[in-house]
Amino acid sequence: MPSTTEPGVPLLRVRDLKVAFDTPAGTVQAVDGVSFTVEAGSTLGLVGESGSGKSVTSLAVMGLHQRAQVSGSITLAGQELLPLTDHQFSRLRGRKMAMVFQDPLSALHPAYTVGEQIAEAHRHHFGTRRRAARRQAVDMLGEVGIPEPARRAGEYPHQFSGGMRQRAMIAMALSCEPDLLIADEPTTALDVTVQAQILELIARVQQERRLGVLMITHDLGVVARVANDVLVMYGGRAAEQAPVDDLFLRPAHPYTRGLLESLPRLDDPDDAPLRVIPGSPPSLAAPISGCPFAPRCPQAERAEELVRARCTGERPRPQEHSSGRSVSCHLPLLPAVRPRPALPHSEDDQEEKTR
Ligand code: SF4
Repeated sequence: MPSTTEPGVPLLRVRDLKVAFDTPAGTVQAVDGVSFTVEAGSTLGLVGESGSGKSVTSLAVMGLHQRAQVSGSITLAGQELLPLTDHQFSRLRGRKMAMVFQDPLSALHPAYTVGEQIAEAHRHHFGTRRRAARRQAVDMLGEVGIPEPARRAGEYPHQFSGGMRQRAMIAMALSCEPDLLIADEPTTALDVTVQAQILELIARVQQERRLGVLMITHDLGVVARVANDVLVMYGGRAAEQAPVDDLFLRPAHPYTRGLLESLPRLDDPDDAPLRVIPGSPPSLAAPISGCPFAPRCPQAERAEELVRARCTGERPRPQEHSSGRSVSCHLPLLPAVRPRPALPHSEDDQEEKTR
């Protein structure tokens, strides 16, 4: 198995991931053909509205969708995960990949002390003796910035503040030194100051441990702070993927532009109305033949009839637009990269001579 600590090694590789659920209303295609990569030591921000498929994607990576139909490919450090049994997945969870949830209170067991819960994860994966696991739990609580960690390890989750609980969750997630951390809206329930502290904590441990981080959020401010690359999801599909600066400076997908334009600006007058993308996300219970954003897309609305027909009738496939950027749109706001046509030999030779 390749090392997961080398820079640039694709730690997590997801290809053409599809996740569907059978419901009384029919089959819901929650994720439909999503591909991305997370490298060791880098953060991919997975962005989208509720129902865009971002959390379902992360749960599929963690093997937590036993009742769903999952297809495609998910590799972690070169190991294909989808054929694994529940038991095999459970050996990887915590040890190779760990998850931090939005609400630590529901993720932590109320009847056990925080220290016991962190120690238990270590005992489960490494068979560590009780006393050593307890020491390790105290060390982890100290590492994530919990004051008096030896004392706090003996307290119960309800005795921790929201920010401290999230730190404890991060300590638990990191206690078995995973390669991949999935953080699902880890700061949504926290006030702004604590949010900044938690994001700084994640960034620090990521650098120290060369963790790959998949940061799931609806908050573009969080993405701007922590992500190296961003994948914008809409209607269960990838709309746009790009390095974070490129995406913020020059969004190429109309949905990405709509999201960025919805952000409040410092120079907005106090009484400025909130900017929103009109309309609602698509229902995933019915098949979508064209682009899922078509009913809300201003770009399609302004387009000629032929293009509009493509938008509603033909699924846009991801196209490369520049280094590291791909966009699924028939009428993107930036031109796609066209491969440079090969010059005839004589012209190539001439170019070589004039260098
Ligand atoms: Fe808009 Fe058409 Fe592009 Fe979809 S494919 S985002 S509807 S222009």
